[in-house]
Amino acid sequence: MTSKTGFVCDESYFWHQTGNGALNIRSGGWVQADIHAENPESKRRVKNLLERSNFMDELQQIKPRHATHEEVALNHSKDYINRVQELSDAGGGDAGEHAIVGPESYEIALNSTGGVLASVDAVMEGKVQNAYALVRPPGHHAEPNEGMGFCLFNNVTIAAKYARKKYGLKRILILDWDVHHGNGTETAFEHDSDVLFISIHQENIFPKNRGDVAFTGKEDGEGYNINIELPAGTGDEGYLYAFDRLIEPIIKQFEPELIFISAGQDASRFDPIGRMLLTAEGYFQMSKRIKNLAEKHSNGRLIACHEGGYSTAYVPFCTLRVIEGLCGKRSQVEDPFNQGFHEGPIYPHQKEAVHRAMKVQSTYWNLKSIKRV
Ligand code: ZN
Repeated sequence: MTSKTGFVCDESYFWHQTGNGALNIRSGGWVQADIHAENPESKRRVKNLLERSNFMDELQQIKPRHATHEEVALNHSKDYINRVQELSDAGGGDAGEHAIVGPESYEIALNSTGGVLASVDAVMEGKVQNAYALVRPPGHHAEPNEGMGFCLFNNVTIAAKYARKKYGLKRILILDWDVHHGNGTETAFEHDSDVLFISIHQENIFPKNRGDVAFTGKEDGEGYNINIELPAGTGDEGYLYAFDRLIEPIIKQFEPELIFISAGQDASRFDPIGRMLLTAEGYFQMSKRIKNLAEKHSNGRLIACHEGGYSTAYVPFCTLRVIEGLCGKRSQVEDPFNQGFHEGPIYPHQKEAVHRAMKVQSTYWNLKSIKRV
């Protein structure tokens, strides 16, 4: 097995158009045209920073391909897939709440999903140990019959279903650290015990009425859905506390054969539409911990799939740190943004939020008693 980290990107990802929005909405009415938050720059600058720092040389390039209609249909209804295609062919429209389709978005979305599928094959065939898929449009909000939150096809969900089918895997983990709840992924696997879904997100942000700590899955899937809701303002220490107390012990007990990360870098301290305080170093620590668990349980097999992240300036540094974590090697790049800032201590109400999730999950998993933490 090679220890290389793979990297998927394609120029087409940057050509998906979300129009003249402002923050998270389309412009119009009283909203003067500005740049939509989900624009190519934060992602393009990831690639640019990798090249500028020569850290790209550490990565093995994986060529994306178009996902087939059948592959996308592993998670989406034919009606919905056709609707995205029709909107795209017509020059654009809305495929759901905040799910903008532009001209050629259908083809680009197929290529985005296909980028993650190509990563699955590269990892499963041992061509690389793990991979980062810098894909766009993102996927984790997309439901079977509608797009949502800038997401058209649910890349990570389709990839997990593809891996399960093609490679006969029995235990797959999806860890979603995007600042928003991964509702589409949760919906896809809420009845399944062979895909463990963990979402760590800011409480009560998006989408409405999803991501509640008390929801643990349905029927056979009960106990295999973990929502960790953290209060706005949680930083590195709070996230790592959740890793120590909940995420890592549960992953060790589940023993996944393949791990996906829905890697949203919108929990960073500079994100315009999230209210968390993670630093790039915090992202490195989370990535490194998951890589270590992958080496222990899944033969190193780990795929990080890019989701949100809207600070044009900071997403590249956070994403670089995630990739460094996958490589097990640091680049020469220093984080220029955090000088003079506090690292982000943990406050009692943030610990309590982790304890609430521990209390819910201790029905299903062996966790340290809260009295002893
Ligand atoms: Zn997000």
